[in-house]
Amino acid sequence: MQIICMVEGSSDDYFSNEKQRSMRPPSPCPHCNSKQVLRALGYYDRDVSRLNEKGYVRISVRRFRCIVCGKTVSLLPSFAQPYRIVLNATIQAFAAGDIYHPDVEWWIIYLRRYWKRFCFWLPLLRQSVPGIGLSPPSEDAAAYWRQVVIWAGSLSSATARLTSDFQITLFGRYRCHVPNRCEGEI
Ligand SMILES: [Zn+2]
Repeated sequence: MQIICMVEGSSDDYFSNEKQRSMRPPSPCPHCNSKQVLRALGYYDRDVSRLNEKGYVRISVRRFRCIVCGKTVSLLPSFAQPYRIVLNATIQAFAAGDIYHPDVEWWIIYLRRYWKRFCFWLPLLRQSVPGIGLSPPSEDAAAYWRQVVIWAGSLSSATARLTSDFQITLFGRYRCHVPNRCEGEI
């Protein structure tokens, strides 16, 4: 299972300061609800883009295993979007129309693809997350996106809240955000 963990700084800071080493296990276990039962289980690597720099860094994501139920939990730092390489900060800049931001220009092909996916996913997102924004057709995709960011304060916070409270992201629903389910898109 994947939990979004709020961290200060961006991908380069996390990478260069090896922040994965200081990630602490959540308690209780999100699968079985037992307290103080998650133990270190190494890391997995994933790529994430950089803020104001070209290219990407390969970060290590901390994993833990529960000694009671045997299931695992990984802590994805909040600057990253689940299953997407481009930073939340860059996605947010693109969605806000800041297309001349250097990061946005470098990743524009990916960002357009992400937006297309968001628009496709939006009807199910509206159904799954009640209470945000207005109803269509009075509200388009861009307006809904703004409402979500206002609701949570940032795309990072929105993703953390959506995954923990509704097991969903702005781009899809994934088994890894559901306790007691294995990984993969559903
Ligand atoms: Zn457990």
